[in-house]
Amino acid sequence: MREYSRRGALWTGLATLGAVATAGTGAAQAATNPSPAASSSPVKLTPAQAWAKLWRGNRHWIAGRLQHPHQTVQRRTEVAQAQSPFAAVVTCIDSRISPEIVFDQGIGDLFCLRTGAHTVDGLVTASIEYGPVENGTPLIVVMGHQRCGAVKAAVEAIESGHHLPGHLDEIVSALRGAYEEAAGQGGDIVDKTVRAHTLRTVNDLAADDVLASLIEKGELGIAGTYYSLDTGQVSLLKAVGFNPS
Ligand SMILES: [Zn+2]
Repeated sequence: MREYSRRGALWTGLATLGAVATAGTGAAQAATNPSPAASSSPVKLTPAQAWAKLWRGNRHWIAGRLQHPHQTVQRRTEVAQAQSPFAAVVTCIDSRISPEIVFDQGIGDLFCLRTGAHTVDGLVTASIEYGPVENGTPLIVVMGHQRCGAVKAAVEAIESGHHLPGHLDEIVSALRGAYEEAAGQGGDIVDKTVRAHTLRTVNDLAADDVLASLIEKGELGIAGTYYSLDTGQVSLLKAVGFNPS
C-alpha cells in the first residue's frame, strides 16, 4: 500500500499559480497567504464526529425542523477565500435528495459528488479523493436512495436485454454487478440493487490506495447509507473506519 503525504500539495500549487498571475500587482499578498486551507482553520472533526453531525442534521430534516446553518451572506464571506468541508457526499443526481438539505448543512460544509445512481468511474473517484487527500475531509458518505430511477432503468435494460440511448448504457454496465448480486436475494430487485450498489461502492472506495491509507491512520471514515424518499431518513448500512455513536 502506498503511503501518501500529498495533503496541501495542490493548494501550494494553486497558491504558486496565484502568485504568478498577480505578479506586479498582488504577488506580495499571495505570498503571505499561501494556504487557503490553513487560513480557514476550522476545528477538524473525527470521522465519527462528522457522521454524528450529519446524523443530527438529518434528524432536523426528518422532523421538518431545518435550521438552515451556514446559509447567510456572512458565511459566504467567511468561506470565500478557503473551504474545509467536513464530509464528501457521493450520491445520485435525483432532484429529491439534495445533500445540503437532507443533512441540514450549508455553504462550505459538504463536497457533493452526484452522478446517475452514484455510479463511479476514474474521474469521479479522483473528485472523491480530492477532499480527503487534499483538504483533510474526514468522512465520505455514499448515499443510495429509495426508488432510484437510474437503477430502475438499468434493471429493466438488463432484464430485457435492450440498450439505452446515448451514454446511458455506461450506467447499466456500472450497475450490472450489483444487479447480479441482488438478483439472488428475492424481494424488490430495484431496492436490493440500490443497496448492493451502495455497499459495493463503499468497498471499492475503502480499497482505493490513497483512501485506504487515510482510513488506516484514522483520518477518514466511509459511510454507506440509504435515503428514504418517504421519510427523509438516511439509514446507515455500513461504517468503515469509524464507530457510529
Ligand atoms: Zn437515483
